[in-house]
Amino acid sequence: MEHSRTCNQCGKGIVGRSDKRYCSDQCRHLSNNTLKRQSQGERRIQQVNTALRKNRSILRQLSPQGKTTVPRQYLELAGFDFRYLTQLYRTQRGNTYHFCYDYGYLLLDEDKVLIVNWQPYMEDR
Ligand SMILES: [Zn+2]
Repeated sequence: MEHSRTCNQCGKGIVGRSDKRYCSDQCRHLSNNTLKRQSQGERRIQQVNTALRKNRSILRQLSPQGKTTVPRQYLELAGFDFRYLTQLYRTQRGNTYHFCYDYGYLLLDEDKVLIVNWQPYMEDR
């Protein structure tokens, strides 16, 4: 059965074998590279999202009411990954809170961590 086909990359008509999806090798390579880049990007987004969700759930479990001081080790043992955060909040006194969505922490002396909840005023600049 003959029906008109177009190149998946550039949209031009394709002549030849019915299983061809691209008009040329160039279009095939271009398309494959684009797909590869996209899926690498998507994988990375997934990875980071997973790490952030895990961080948030650890903060939530350790501090169900917000505002709790715990040893930093508790976070580490639970698998908290300090590299991932969604936002920084710097107080007027110069303390920097690290947030994972609606839970944040402040590193204190003696390897302790203060866990807090996100507050609407923190959005102000
Ligand atoms: Zn093409």
